[in-house]
Amino acid sequence: MAQIEASSPHTMNTYGRLPIALSHGQGVHVWDVNGKRYLDALAGIAVNTLGHNHPKLVPALQDQISKIIHSCNYYHVPNAEKLAAKLVELSGMTNVFFGSTGLEANEAAIKLARKFGHDKGIERPEIVVYEKAFHGRSIATLSATGNEKVQQGFGPLVEGFIRVPLNDIDALKQATEGNPNVVAVFFETIQGEGGINQMRIDYLKQVRALCDQKDWLLMIDEVQCGMGRTGKWFAHQWAGIVPDVMPLAKGLGSGVPIGAVVAGPKAANIFQPGNHGTTFGGNPLAMRAGVETIRIMEEDGLLESAARVGAHLKGALQRELGNLDGVVEVRGQGLMIGVELARNCSVLTQRACDAGLLISVTADTVIRLLPPLIMTEAEADQVIAILVPLVKDFLAQ
Ligand SMILES: *Cc1c(COP(=O)(O)O)cnc(C)c1O
Repeated sequence: MAQIEASSPHTMNTYGRLPIALSHGQGVHVWDVNGKRYLDALAGIAVNTLGHNHPKLVPALQDQISKIIHSCNYYHVPNAEKLAAKLVELSGMTNVFFGSTGLEANEAAIKLARKFGHDKGIERPEIVVYEKAFHGRSIATLSATGNEKVQQGFGPLVEGFIRVPLNDIDALKQATEGNPNVVAVFFETIQGEGGINQMRIDYLKQVRALCDQKDWLLMIDEVQCGMGRTGKWFAHQWAGIVPDVMPLAKGLGSGVPIGAVVAGPKAANIFQPGNHGTTFGGNPLAMRAGVETIRIMEEDGLLESAARVGAHLKGALQRELGNLDGVVEVRGQGLMIGVELARNCSVLTQRACDAGLLISVTADTVIRLLPPLIMTEAEADQVIAILVPLVKDFLAQ
């Protein structure tokens, strides 16, 4: 058996890692370096949209790597225009800026909001953000994040954020009343790291209307809940609204690092030459990954499948666990599902791993499932067959 170091002495000690290393994958399964197989219900935290070793994605990426991996933003990248056009079509928005990660997409969103304000003569623009939000770990995005653990030790935080509770339109109105410096409202349609907390459809519509009325940007972080995971391309589309700014990342490249901020007419022309840029953003490999991921999702009907398999999975979890003492709620949409327990259940990540299932626990008490969108109902049944007894055992302790 290959020895997995309990700690990696040369990498910084930033992650509480499980003592396994993955070697390869196929579909919804991965194998560790000792040959043990796992059912992947996490997809690298909502990244591996098409699972592992996808028969359509891998040859396309191989072809791209053999042609050109990176050029640079001095030159046009045809697939960047192609992917941008596709994202515009799917979102009903107008222009895209490409980066490489979620926080980078959110940084761009925050910069857009601030310059939107400055262009209107607002010198100290403020952005509304939410309790339990997660927007990344750069100084600006951790300041927008609503989790003290993420912020601890990194002050002073970036100013210009107003924090409000979820799904409370009166609280939003009160927190911003008479404040001429507000420029944007910024949230995740379904909070991921915060514990699979959904914005209600009526609330989404109310905030859209308020932003229109006040001339604020509606900025929706779809980094985790977007890209088909809920059964629509973007989770806010369930409310029939269109944001002004939409950061994307995780699932967009099916494993290849990529981020994007999509802008509607109110935000599409805020950045002028010299205002923003990044070396890796929009590079040929990432752009090919994005183009092919969306093409394959469309060809294989993965939105419809995510909705159907997700409903099946959530229904089974509700039936098996929903009424048990110690289970607070089973919630989520499509293949973004949370099971909230009444106490800290972080230990379940390791126990599931031992039992051959990859999941995560977020916000201490929420079991989080984010499977690849290729997961079938039969595979979802295997998730249930492993997870439900583990949770029952945990509750009995
Ligand atoms: C993961 C995540 C981010 C940060 O993305 P990185 O690629 O890790 O920088 C931002 N927002 C949301 C909603 C996320 O889930």
